[in-house]
Amino acid sequence: MNTLLAHQTCLITGASRGIGKGIAELFAKYGCNIAFTYRHSVDSALELEHALQQFGIKAKGYQSDCSRFEEAENVVNQVVNDFGGLNILINNAGITKDGLLLRMTEAQWDEVLNTNLKSVFALTKAAQKPMLKAKHGSIINISSFVGVRGNAGQSNYAASKAGIIGFTKSIAQELGSRNIRCNAIAPGFIATEMTGALNAEMTQQWIEQIPLKRSGTVNDVAQACLFLASDLSSYITGQCLSVCGGMLT
Ligand code: NAP
Repeated sequence: MNTLLAHQTCLITGASRGIGKGIAELFAKYGCNIAFTYRHSVDSALELEHALQQFGIKAKGYQSDCSRFEEAENVVNQVVNDFGGLNILINNAGITKDGLLLRMTEAQWDEVLNTNLKSVFALTKAAQKPMLKAKHGSIINISSFVGVRGNAGQSNYAASKAGIIGFTKSIAQELGSRNIRCNAIAPGFIATEMTGALNAEMTQQWIEQIPLKRSGTVNDVAQACLFLASDLSSYITGQCLSVCGGMLT
């Protein structure tokens, strides 16, 4: 086993599938203990918990709705109790509720902003306590290329993902002196259930816009997270790293 993240504990939100699951699997291979959250997928979470434990690390899933402010502190406290500390936080959980502004409802706006952005505030606020105590920490927020360049029909999602970038840069400045780093990742078009909802023609249109001429994999994003979580990036904070096959250039 590679020991790059040995004796570290990472909390990943929304890891029952997709990018979060990919990060959990890669980090476990590098010796990291994994706490993760999910909202509905109990069976997938139990399956992942078991699969991660096969790497000889401690792993536990927590059913916790990241859009609810009060649940953030609860889950962070549970993780610290169960694992003895928290070194890495990956705010990954996210949803889309797409629609043109003309038809977008207040409920669609609130659900996306609460799940994608308010959660980042709540989880980071709670996680800073054990990190301040340890005088060490890495926080990674999963934004999106849509947060950087916008996208018609996704104004709620774009606003949430752009907000994450501003939040990330501010927290990097607030917590840098305490040896806590905070960076964002802006994935491009990554093959997961989220993008699987698009039809073949739309998927092809996206791929044509990508200089590397393919969609990204969850592992492409997970490897960027590994870099930002570990001491390989010890002098990097407040940055937004695009993992988008060159789409944002
Ligand atoms: P996904 O396949 O739809 O998975 C979303 C995960 O988030 C699931 O584990 C889901 O849990 C969890 N989740 C959703 N709402 C939650 C809530 N309220 N509380 C806790 N967990 C919740 O999504 P993905 O494609 O892996 O995307 C992961 C992140 O990357 C998101 O922030 C997304 O915006 C971002 N991103 C994705 C792409 C892409 O192309 N896929 C591109 C740019 C950015 P359940 O299974 O229990 O519902």
